[in-house]
Amino acid sequence: MRLVLLGAPGAGKGTQAKKLIEKYGIPQISTGDLLRAAVKEGTDLGKEAKSYMDKGELVPDSVVLGMVEERMKQDDCQKGYILDGFPRNTAQAESLDGMLDKLGMPITAAVSVDVPFEDLMKRLTGRRTCKDCGQMYNIYFSAPAKEGVCDKCGGELFQRDDDKEETIKKRLEVYESQTAPLIDYYGGKGLVKRFDGTGAIDDIFAKICTELEG
Ligand SMILES: [Zn+2]
Repeated sequence: MRLVLLGAPGAGKGTQAKKLIEKYGIPQISTGDLLRAAVKEGTDLGKEAKSYMDKGELVPDSVVLGMVEERMKQDDCQKGYILDGFPRNTAQAESLDGMLDKLGMPITAAVSVDVPFEDLMKRLTGRRTCKDCGQMYNIYFSAPAKEGVCDKCGGELFQRDDDKEETIKKRLEVYESQTAPLIDYYGGKGLVKRFDGTGAIDDIFAKICTELEG
């Protein structure tokens, strides 16, 4: 099972990834984690990445791809893997495919967890956090008993700047513009499997497993 996970912020992709990892015993490969680890360990690629980061520049795709390749060669990936957060665009997807073909471990499915825009807005803009204990709520789905007050400690609830409507809207639009071409790209290879992400977490997971095992 060699997967790429696609899904907007708030679609529950991370939750499904965690369940897939547990059930199938395959590692999740996050390029953010790889980058941090390589820089910390001071590997050749890590040093190269750091030289860009120190200048405030983006780490080039070739460097990130090199890190993914090194990671793929480790034993635990031979059973499969879940790529998260990469690729983000078609150019990255093409070079990734080239590398994975060379290693003989191409992607077997691009899993897309789909949630309508309005629902994502509610999931993300409805978030409230307790100032005192950090407990999270959602005013639409898991509201506190008393508006604006934490059930656990009585603290005041607030909305983080990241969760404000304009910020969320922009994040979702950026995601949509980047991901739509990826769906087309993997779709052209017959690899896209789309799932309705609006139901219960376990139901969605069951459907994903059935489809992937079938
Ligand atoms: Zn609290």
